[in-house]
Amino acid sequence: MVHFVGAGPGAVDLITVRGQELLRSADVVIYAGSLVNPELLQMTKPNCRIFNSARMTLDEVLDEMKKAESEGLVTVRLHTGDMSLYGAIREQMDALDELGIAYDDTPGVSSFCGAASALNAEYTLPNVSQTVIITRKAGRTPVPEREGIPSLAQHGSTMVLFLSSGMIPALQEDLLQGAYTEDTPAAIVYKATWPDEKTVRCTVGTLADEAAKAGITKTALVLVGDFLAGDYEKSRLYDPSFTTEFRKAKENK
Ligand code: SAH
Repeated sequence: MVHFVGAGPGAVDLITVRGQELLRSADVVIYAGSLVNPELLQMTKPNCRIFNSARMTLDEVLDEMKKAESEGLVTVRLHTGDMSLYGAIREQMDALDELGIAYDDTPGVSSFCGAASALNAEYTLPNVSQTVIITRKAGRTPVPEREGIPSLAQHGSTMVLFLSSGMIPALQEDLLQGAYTEDTPAAIVYKATWPDEKTVRCTVGTLADEAAKAGITKTALVLVGDFLAGDYEKSRLYDPSFTTEFRKAKENK
């Protein structure tokens, strides 16, 4: 059996309880060494076989899974954040299907949630934006043309950019081709929830300069949108004049 487990964004205590239990019981752990906090590995059993997938090909990862399976061992495949985002799990799962090896999936806290908590931010403010676009700038992995940042930026919604902090000057150009302006609030969150987390609040117009000043070129998310500004409308859910399934509106006195 192979358990895919989301490790969370960085802080060791942000793995789920279920993920932690699986990690404790694993005979083999294959972890994404580039971003998973290695301290998590201290939870494993003393004789656990541990592999860093950052140094392995897909076939090498699958070989270790196959070997473990043939010995009747339990494997945990530990991915950063939540593996449904940029996790490259599909190709592993398809291969496991072909090999007839069973697997399941335990979600993790994605770094985009970690970044919001680093800023005490709410992505979906009433009257500001009710939509979060999660995307990346094309790099070595291409992005379908209809999903280019200039096109997605037309919406002016909240936007979270993964895998793009090495190309911030070009990213800034792209963002300015849509509905965002030089003054639209933006933020860069480096290593959200890690002990060396860094947050930079700026605007779309100063993104490149501020990233350079802070020396941030990787392991960061770029957040864009008016949710980072002061103005919003209070949620109707807690409005005294609003009736919900659970609460009657209070009469105006
Ligand atoms: N599945 C992961 C994302 C993997 S892609 C998740 O859910 O978070 C790797 C990219 O995620 C990095 O290039 C960076 O943009 C972002 N990232 C991962 N961990 C991060 C963290 N702690 N702080 C900021 N960005 C992070």
